[in-house]
Amino acid sequence: MPKTKLMLLGPPGAGKGTQAERITEALEIPHISTGDMLRDARDRGTDLGKKAAEYMNAGELVPDDVVIGIVEERLEQDDAQDGFVLDGFPRTLNQAEALDGQGVKLDAVLSLEVSESEIVRRLSGRLHCPECGAGYHKSFDPPQTEDVCDECGHQGLERRKDDQPEVIRERMRTYEENTDPLKSFYADRGVLVRIDGEGSPEAVAGRIAQAIDAV
Ligand code: AMP
Repeated sequence: MPKTKLMLLGPPGAGKGTQAERITEALEIPHISTGDMLRDARDRGTDLGKKAAEYMNAGELVPDDVVIGIVEERLEQDDAQDGFVLDGFPRTLNQAEALDGQGVKLDAVLSLEVSESEIVRRLSGRLHCPECGAGYHKSFDPPQTEDVCDECGHQGLERRKDDQPEVIRERMRTYEENTDPLKSFYADRGVLVRIDGEGSPEAVAGRIAQAIDAV
């Protein structure tokens, strides 16, 4: 597959992080996740992280100027010059316009389409290792030994703070209001590709690989 500038669009739980990891490995391009960068800043207790935590814990969007600044810096780094996969950015029209303004032209915006009932099922079982970041799912992708990370052996897998039911509902509402309109923004530019996001991660990855080949 060629190196390309990609973005994964979709509601929380659509599988953006999982698929971005696979694309990263296949194309050898960096995975740029604003959620991961903000969680990292929050966990390190930086000023930016403290500010972001208030919004993240409530399921709301972190202000545009904060996120746009982080992504601009990241996209200027050497490893992002030939291609990247953006995950969780842009999430508002303002952010999409800022990316345009920076002269970044996306080759494809992959919209992962998943029903609401499936999203709730996925998010409510999601777990991760606080030590190395490996991701699991209680029913679909459990670790070999309950509560122990397969990758690093850490005991005590955790749920993301924002995967609690009332925060999930707020994140979905935020998505509908702010992020869903990006589909028409990118459809107008001719780069939107809708991908059926239901089924196993392998099945979805196969559909994405086909779509990227066609870009
Ligand atoms: P994610 O891991 O992509 O689901 O992001 C987790 C949380 O980080 C979101 O619910 C927001 O609070 C915040 N966040 C991540 N990306 C953005 C963004 N592009 N704009 C604003 N807030 C963001």
